[in-house]
Amino acid sequence: MQQLHFNEIAQIVNGKIFAACNNNLPVVDSVITDSRLVHAPANALFVALKGPVYNGHHFISELNAKGVNAFLVDEKEAITPEAAFILVDDTRTALQKLAAAIRKSFTGPVVGITGSNGKTIVKEWLNELLAADRKIVRSPKSFNSQIGVPLSVLLMNNSYNLAIIEAGISQPGEMEKLEPVIHPEIGILTNIGDAHQEFFDSTTQKLYEKLALFKHSKTLIARMDDALIYSKVKPFCANHNIEALFWSTENTSCPIFFTVEKRENSCLIHARIHQNNFTFSIPFTDESAIENACHCFVALHALKGQTPPILKRFGQLQQLAMRLEIKRGINQNILINDYYNSDLNSLSIALSVLQQQAANKGQKKVLILSDIQQTGLPASALYTKVNQLIKTWGIDQLIGIGPAISANRKQFSVAAGFFSNSNDFVQRFPYQSIHSAAILIKGARQFRFEKISGLLQQKAHQTVLEINLNAIVNNLNTFRARLHKHTKIVVMVKAFSYGSGDVEIARLLQHQNVDYLAVAVADEGMQLRNAGISLPIIVMNPERDSFQNMITHRLEPNIYDTALLRSFAQNAAEFGVSHFPIHLKIDTGMNRLGLKTQNELQECLLIIRQSETVKVSSVFSHLAGSDDPALDSFTQEQFATFDKATAFIAQKLPYSFDRHILNSAGIERFPEKQYEMVRLGIGLYGISPSGLALENISTLKSTISQIKYLQANESVGYGRRGTVSAASKIAVVPIGYADGIHRKLGNHNGSAFVHGKKAPIIGNICMDMLMLDVSGIDAHAGDKVEFFGPHIPIEEIAQQLDTIPYEVLTGISQRVKRIYLRE
Ligand SMILES: *Cc1c(COP(=O)(O)O)cnc(C)c1O
Repeated sequence: MQQLHFNEIAQIVNGKIFAACNNNLPVVDSVITDSRLVHAPANALFVALKGPVYNGHHFISELNAKGVNAFLVDEKEAITPEAAFILVDDTRTALQKLAAAIRKSFTGPVVGITGSNGKTIVKEWLNELLAADRKIVRSPKSFNSQIGVPLSVLLMNNSYNLAIIEAGISQPGEMEKLEPVIHPEIGILTNIGDAHQEFFDSTTQKLYEKLALFKHSKTLIARMDDALIYSKVKPFCANHNIEALFWSTENTSCPIFFTVEKRENSCLIHARIHQNNFTFSIPFTDESAIENACHCFVALHALKGQTPPILKRFGQLQQLAMRLEIKRGINQNILINDYYNSDLNSLSIALSVLQQQAANKGQKKVLILSDIQQTGLPASALYTKVNQLIKTWGIDQLIGIGPAISANRKQFSVAAGFFSNSNDFVQRFPYQSIHSAAILIKGARQFRFEKISGLLQQKAHQTVLEINLNAIVNNLNTFRARLHKHTKIVVMVKAFSYGSGDVEIARLLQHQNVDYLAVAVADEGMQLRNAGISLPIIVMNPERDSFQNMITHRLEPNIYDTALLRSFAQNAAEFGVSHFPIHLKIDTGMNRLGLKTQNELQECLLIIRQSETVKVSSVFSHLAGSDDPALDSFTQEQFATFDKATAFIAQKLPYSFDRHILNSAGIERFPEKQYEMVRLGIGLYGISPSGLALENISTLKSTISQIKYLQANESVGYGRRGTVSAASKIAVVPIGYADGIHRKLGNHNGSAFVHGKKAPIIGNICMDMLMLDVSGIDAHAGDKVEFFGPHIPIEEIAQQLDTIPYEVLTGISQRVKRIYLRE
């Protein structure tokens, strides 16, 4: 961002300065809100924000030690003599004020985009269309929240001549606050749907909220074909003196009218705009791409930019891989793909993910980086900054690709190799030379890094389970918000984290500072240790054969009977360890594993007190019916039994221990029984029995291999079970019961989501394939098919199979590749 003096910032945000030495106040050239993303600390201002579980004020001393000297806070107690502070009433409001001031001094036009869907795509496409002609600053990724918008706007400075900023809201009143921050001259309302509806009374109310962004705009772009939008936007524009640019594909009397000609893999779009005609093509056929492209065209018109060379670029637009992907690579590498944009901000975010994935100590960190574009900095200063970042994040090897980064090779102080473009890299790089490393592939789109990733990744698969790591963090935080600040969390990662994968999830959780992980058997724990996980790990089902491995790998056993305890204590003694942590399990009514009688308990305590080898770290029990209100009185009896047992143990042991009995449903329904610790399982993975608003984390997807057209009375698959009564269109999909699609879902019991519609599974499911009836659906070979995920809840499949979501999730076979996504 443009440089501001500490004093100026204090004035803008109306804050009070606290600093030991008033004539040596810092100059600020960047703002951070995430304590993990610090680079170039000397001129950074840390804004301490508070969320339901995160309080930036707690990181001040840590950041100060890293070299950050300027802080914006709203808790007076956070102020120390070691740094310069600005105290305000509310840091979030202050951040917005600061951004609004930066916005005021920006002279170029600002395009503001809101709506339910397509915001990020319209923003990115506009950027691609105009990047060669303008200097554009835009929101990184989909930064569009109350915090993301100000952080985007802070990137503005007058070396740019166009800004494109997106805004999203989830509650009434939010847009009011973003309006002065963005203050767009040209507005785009993409559409209105029912996303984020829970805090609004109606879609109309939500529409009015969104329109608040445009109340001072000169021009507003919206689609006439949505009756609600047209009926509200028209008077809104009239009242606020805004030029309304409505467009339509249906109403020929609309001054901006589009005719769409669909081809096999593309569309030809004819635009008529006040009697002038234009034609361009886009490489997509789906309705949302058409709508997004029309919005872009009208925005070009508003910016006076619909020239032939720009229109030609519509043909090269690409589906955005907007999220960063984590995949398994060849040679035991981990690949982090983020080749959708490249700027300093998104580079630091991606480096923090690299750091997290390379948790295994000594794992080599490699960065493959393209030229960085449009920063407004001179190249040598830019690559000196990049080198600083590379050093801060401890990158071991840099591979620079592109003319600019190659020309600036002397700015780098790590081991580095340079290539003029991706093809040069593909031909010359001995890519077998990177082993067991974490590799970040980060580049601007035109460098086509997908080629490089294709070479380095394990063979691509058509059937994948996509895991959304952001959703996992959000679910974790939803649970944290229901717990006291100091309650510890054990996350259950047994059975490959309920089917969603093991080390990637464990690394994420380690980074999120959970207190323990729990696995079912010692082997699962050893895999985590070998991958560098250092969190305490509890083994729920320890087997005698594995005790030695458990002790050497610091895996803590669940002790559920006396014989087991004796044997474990003896092994520990043979290894010469003392006070090895164990977890005592009390059976309070589940009648599965656990110490049940007073005698058993007494005997165990005797062994524990006599032996120095083990130490009770926690005492726990498991609820049999925490999700079922009909069993609440039984659950209360379990609590009472647990209280009695733990009180008894507390009397007998000379030290204290943690108590825990709640699983996910228990945390939702009996938070008053959280004691010192809870065990989170299925809730983290997005399933709630009590209707808590959790996010879906996994999507099972495949790809259509072939389309078949059948006559009436022909049949599909084994046993001729799928006989069709009329002419039908059938899609063959490479996923079968060996992948975890239960065979009971065949013969119209289950379905998949294709092109916005549900298509029933027809005939018997085969081992590696199944067939869908896609009659009446615009489906082609190569199209994606969802089996569960955002459109088909896992609960629905569980119901069809008369089972529970746990079984569906853990039933997805290991041969289905897991792909991890991060916003
Ligand atoms: C699996 C498990 C849990 C987690 O249960 P959820 O219902 O998935 O939250 C908790 N405690 C024990 C002992 C478990 O085995």
